Amino acid sequence: MKIVVVGGGFAGLNFIKGLWSEPSVEIVVVDRNNYHFFPPLLYQVSTSFIEASNISHPFRRMFENRPNVRFHMGTLLEVLPEQKVIRTDGGTYAYDLLVLAPGTETNFFGMQAVQEKAWPMKTIDEAQEIRNHILLNLEKASREPDAQIRERLLNIVICGGGPTGVELAGMLAELGRHIAPREYPDIPGIQQARIHLIDAGKTLLGPMSKTAQDEAYNVLSKLGVQIQLETAVKDYQDGVVYLSDGSTLRTETLVWASGVIAREVPGLPKEVIGKGRRILVDAVNKVSGMDNVYALGDACLQTTDAAWPNGHPQVAQVAIQQGTLLAKNIRRQLSGTPMTPFTYHDKGSMAIISKYKAVADLPKLSFKGFFAWLVWLLIHVIPLVGFRNKVQLAFSWMWSFVTNNPTLRLIIRPLPSQRALDAERKRLQQPDVPVTTPTSAPELHPAL
Ligand SMILES: Cc1cc2nc3c(=O)[nH]c(=O)nc-3n(C[C@H](O)[C@H](O)[C@H](O)COP(=O)(O)OP(=O)(O)OC[C@H]3O[C@@H](n4cnc5c(N)ncnc54)[C@H](O)[C@@H]3O)c2cc1C
Repeated sequence: MKIVVVGGGFAGLNFIKGLWSEPSVEIVVVDRNNYHFFPPLLYQVSTSFIEASNISHPFRRMFENRPNVRFHMGTLLEVLPEQKVIRTDGGTYAYDLLVLAPGTETNFFGMQAVQEKAWPMKTIDEAQEIRNHILLNLEKASREPDAQIRERLLNIVICGGGPTGVELAGMLAELGRHIAPREYPDIPGIQQARIHLIDAGKTLLGPMSKTAQDEAYNVLSKLGVQIQLETAVKDYQDGVVYLSDGSTLRTETLVWASGVIAREVPGLPKEVIGKGRRILVDAVNKVSGMDNVYALGDACLQTTDAAWPNGHPQVAQVAIQQGTLLAKNIRRQLSGTPMTPFTYHDKGSMAIISKYKAVADLPKLSFKGFFAWLVWLLIHVIPLVGFRNKVQLAFSWMWSFVTNNPTLRLIIRPLPSQRALDAERKRLQQPDVPVTTPTSAPELHPAL
C-alpha cells in the first residue's frame, strides 16, 4: 500500500514512526521544509537563547535506515481525490492512502497592514527573522541620535497573551535586564526600553488555571512588562500600533502571537472544511465522506470525542496521539480488525514565564515556581528528536541560565538577500552598465 503523508510535524511524524517498520507499506513524506522542528521552543530561537539546530532534525537523517520511507521536499499545491494523486511544487504523487497533516498558519484576522508589517513566529525562518530584526534594531539604536526613533527601535510590542506571548515577553524582559545594558552601553535610554504585551482577553494564559494566570501576570509585571488586557490591536502603520482603547504604541517590532488558522488544502470539497478552516474528520480521523483520505493534528476538526464536542485544542499532544493511533489503526485495517476511535488524554499544559519560574496545570493539580520550571525543562527536552539535540539543548540551557549570557546574538542574514546585494553591487561595477541615479532604494529583505 502506498501512503503519502503531507506534513512531518508532530502528527505526521508520529504516524510515520508507527508504520515505518511495516513492510507492506511504502511511505512518501512531503514537507515544505527538509527538517522536523519543535514549535514550543521557537521563542527561545527568536530571543537568541538557543540555536535553531537545537530544536530541528533533518528528515533524511531520520529516514536513512527506513527503506520503505521516502522524503520529498515540496509544498502541497492540490489534492486530486478522483485521480488519487497530490500535486506539489516539485512533482505529482499517487497514493492508495493520503494523510494530511500540514498544521496551521498565522491568522491576522484580515488586518492587511498587520499582515504586511508585523512579525509572526510560527516557523524557524520567522523566529530567525525576529532574532535578526531585534539585533539589527539594537545596532541602529546605538547610532541613532533622535530619541523618538530610538524609542521605536527599542520598544517591542507582542500581541497575544497565550503561552507563546507570555514566554516571549518573559525572555525578552530578562534579556533587556541582564544583557542589553551590559552589551549596548552606547544606547542612551536603553533601560527605558519597554516590552508591551497586549491581549483582547480578560487574563493572560486564557485556557490555563487561575493560579497560572495570576502568576504570569505578577511575574511579568515585576519584570517590567507592560501588560494591557481587554485590548485589541486594530492597526499598525508607520511604526505605530493602534489599540482598541484609542491609545497608540510606537514600535518597529510588533510580534504577532495571536491566532492560527489551519493551512489551506486546495482540492478538498468545501463541505469538509469547518471552523478555523479545519478539515472535518470522523472518529478515526478519516475526512468526512472521503475514502482513503485522513487528516491529523492542528489541521483537522474532530467532534466525535465525547469530552471535546467542539473539537480538540490545537496542541502538540493531540497531534501526537492522533498520529500514533492512526498508525495503529492502519495496522489493524491491514490485519482485518476494526479501527479504534480517538479519545484525547489531556496530560496538562505548562508555560515558562521567566528564569526559574514556570506554571503547570496537570489534570489533577496546578503548581508554579522553580519546581514547575524544572519539570518544564525536562518535559521539553524529552520529546526532541535526536539524542544530539537533547544534549545540546540541555547544555545551551545550562550555559544560558547559569551565565545569564548566551553568546548567540549573531546577525546572520539570509543568503539570497546577500546574493542579491552582491549581484547588484557587481552589476553597478560593470563598465558597460549605464550609470543612472536610482529613483528609489533597492528592495531589500525586511531583515536588512
Ligand atoms: C510558537 C508556538 C509555540 C507552541 N507551543 C506549544 C506548547 O507549548 N505546547 C503545545 O502542546 N503546543 C504548542 N504549540 C502548538 C503545537 O506546536 C501544534 O499543536 C503542533 O505542532 C501541531 O502538530 P501538527 O503535526 O498538526 O502540525 P505542525 O507541527 O505545524 O506540522 C505541520 C508540518 O506540515 C508542513 N507543511 C505545512 N504546510 C505544508 C504544505 N503546504 N506542503 C507541505 N508541507 C507543509 C510543515 O513544514 C510542518 O512540518 C505551539 C505552536 C507554536 C507555533
